[in-house]
Amino acid sequence: MSGEDCIFCKIVSGEIPAEIVSTTDHTVAFRDLDPQAPTHVLVIPKRHEPDIGSLAAADPDATIALLAEARQIATKEGNGSYRLVFNTGADAHQTVFHCHAHVLAGRELGWPPG
Ligand code: AMP
Repeated sequence: MSGEDCIFCKIVSGEIPAEIVSTTDHTVAFRDLDPQAPTHVLVIPKRHEPDIGSLAAADPDATIALLAEARQIATKEGNGSYRLVFNTGADAHQTVFHCHAHVLAGRELGWPPG
């Protein structure tokens, strides 16, 4: 899927509304529509890349910015414990093919994940 058809690119451009938590030069963070924890924020790069591996290969600065922003949000909203999830590929339950980190916090999180 190209940037043009991508729902997260449309959130970056403001074409689709979202509950924005933060924006930086490289990232936008917004609340997940279907939260799985009291804090469930998606941090995405402004640049369209399908997954975290592609982003890391194409743009290390944006990758670091994304990880730093995820930490900022988790620190601000959580109690110090949080989970960062990058579902990668359809079998891993990736449904939106624009790189995103799920920041989950605010409850005890079970392990192993399903
Ligand atoms: P994944 O399954 O890892 O690809 O996660 C995609 C996430 O995006 C899911 O948790 C969805 O609930 C979330 N999502 C999809 N569309 C939107 C949207 N327009 N605003 C906020 N979250 C969304």
